[in-house]
Amino acid sequence: MSGPPGVPADAGEFAASLEQIRRRIRPGSEPRIGVGAGWVPIIASLNEKLTAIDPEHSILGVEERYGLLVWDFVSPGGHDQAMQSAIDAAAEEAASCCEICGAPGRLMSRGESGHKWLKTVCPACAQDRGYRPEAVR
Ligand SMILES: [Zn+2]
Repeated sequence: MSGPPGVPADAGEFAASLEQIRRRIRPGSEPRIGVGAGWVPIIASLNEKLTAIDPEHSILGVEERYGLLVWDFVSPGGHDQAMQSAIDAAAEEAASCCEICGAPGRLMSRGESGHKWLKTVCPACAQDRGYRPEAVR
């Protein structure tokens, strides 16, 4: 597998969840799920939890930012706190899961400071793509 991360066209058992997530993305926001295939099970399960908390919620964005899972939402039911804790738990799970293949991973980086790319990857994907373990701050 190569190329930029993105949800595969054939998302298998998760296709319905991904479609549901896309439909929740607000008009005006880009209906794009900006995470790699390795995180698809995590966002599918998060979608179920969020839907249970507030069936009317809408999504402003789902993406990987600096190697971390970011999920912005609006909750008309006012369940922001419950939804945010579900998102925080999923983001924590994603932080130790390779975004490319789903194997256990951690935050790694590629490039020099100033032009550094962060991504959560497993050792094998890191080696393939030239990522090195990121120093713990
Ligand atoms: Zn991997």
